[in-house]
Amino acid sequence: MRPLAISQQQWIEIVGMVKPDSVKQMVVVGGGAGGLELVVKLAKKLKRDASVRVVLVDKNASHIWKPLLHEVATGSLDSHHDETSYRMLARKYGFDFVLGRVTSVDTEKQSIGIASEDDDDGAELVAARDLSFDELVLCPGSRSNDFGTSGVAAHCVKLDSREQAERFHKLYLKQLHKVSAAKDDSTQLSVVIVGGGATGVELAADLHNVAGRLQDYGFQTFSQARLKVSVIEAGPVLLPRLPERIGVSVKRELESIGVDVLTATKIESAAADALFTSEGVRIPADVSVWAAGVRAPSFLGESGLPVDNLGRVKVNADLTVEGYSTIYAAGDCACCPTADGGTVPPRAQSAHQMASIVAHNIVARHKNKSSKDFVYKDFGSLISLSRFSTVGNLMGNLMRGSVFIEGWLARMFYLSLYRMHQNAVHGPFSTVLIMLGDRIYKHTRADLKLH
Ligand SMILES: Cc1cc2nc3c(=O)[nH]c(=O)nc-3n(C[C@H](O)[C@H](O)[C@H](O)COP(=O)(O)OP(=O)(O)OC[C@H]3O[C@@H](n4cnc5c(N)ncnc54)[C@H](O)[C@@H]3O)c2cc1C
Repeated sequence: MRPLAISQQQWIEIVGMVKPDSVKQMVVVGGGAGGLELVVKLAKKLKRDASVRVVLVDKNASHIWKPLLHEVATGSLDSHHDETSYRMLARKYGFDFVLGRVTSVDTEKQSIGIASEDDDDGAELVAARDLSFDELVLCPGSRSNDFGTSGVAAHCVKLDSREQAERFHKLYLKQLHKVSAAKDDSTQLSVVIVGGGATGVELAADLHNVAGRLQDYGFQTFSQARLKVSVIEAGPVLLPRLPERIGVSVKRELESIGVDVLTATKIESAAADALFTSEGVRIPADVSVWAAGVRAPSFLGESGLPVDNLGRVKVNADLTVEGYSTIYAAGDCACCPTADGGTVPPRAQSAHQMASIVAHNIVARHKNKSSKDFVYKDFGSLISLSRFSTVGNLMGNLMRGSVFIEGWLARMFYLSLYRMHQNAVHGPFSTVLIMLGDRIYKHTRADLKLH
């Protein structure tokens, strides 16, 4: 006879966060590109096993694929259309969902700490609590790294979460309104983006794409010529972690649509209306975006887990955390060595590959089978410059090395990445329905979000 299935929520109501010893609790922190795929895999593989409870904890109630955030920022994507409710997926696959921000990991007690939550008036809604685990997977992603640069926290927007992308969107719309209403039609709207990685260059291109369509939406006096976007990169080339040819091609493409690209330029401080380079040059900015560097959430290192200089958790070959056999880390927050002496790059494809191995290893351990080591396979990288171009490289055995691609073929591969993520989360049938729904949606709603 199957034991009575009691949901995590019911456990919380009945016995606080204490779980019965007979039920093994597998907790995944962070339902992003890696964590969500992982929790779905675990729930599917273990759904008939009543001795296991799979729990996802995320600080948000819904998921949006992070590589789409620059489109949320510009308004080419409505985040409310593309989000997926964790509770809906929990119901579909039979895992439990806990809404809350994880603040600590207690490795001795085998529990995580979840912050209290307040309502809009500051009154406590939910008290701080602990959630115990038998196996824990840490997938809270990464944030951009301002390296403590003066004024950045106060004056620059980051694009690490949907809230931040929406904040940029609101600021941008306000400035758009102001510039469009200006009597002097030479007034420009200036957006300065610090960081010439994927986030920075994709945002710059999409801002130009949107600017070119604003006249259709009543901004008669606005045009691409009135938008001044600058991308500032400290290194000598754009996209420093990718093959140089991609950075060169992206720079050429961005400059051809009117983006200013400044390489080998370091920002030393930020103010409300400008950024300042290390050489003292003032770069005026109506909106400043910080999209440089990455670092993992600080609670990982503060909890005593072994971390590198970017706060990423050091993992063994099977993706368990060094020194802990019941704690795994995957995705951007994991510091995982590669054969060439580097570390696995913070990308959606890395998170996807790690999710598969962790799911396999957790299930294998549960069934007393042997685990697998993670070997990162770089399939290449693609950069979408909105409707203007897509460039990148593909890698693999078939390609015999790295092949540079651009144009519609690159665009097809780029779009397929998101569909692969949707397939991993929703399954093939639902993904086809989502694709059909997207087509219909295109014809029934505005294709720009301007509110
Ligand atoms: C604008 C942009 C464009 C990008 N473009 C590309 C691209 O084209 N190709 C590519 O491969 N990669 C791209 N990336 C990088 C890619 O998005 C990340 O590498 C990937 O999302 C990492 O997956 P993850 O699961 O580690 O973390 P994430 O996808 O960031 O998910 C982390 C999850 O953890 C939750 N969380 C965080 N902290 C806590 C906490 N304390 N408590 C509870 N929950 C928490 C978050 O809410 C989130 O759901 C892009 C990133 C950005 C920002």
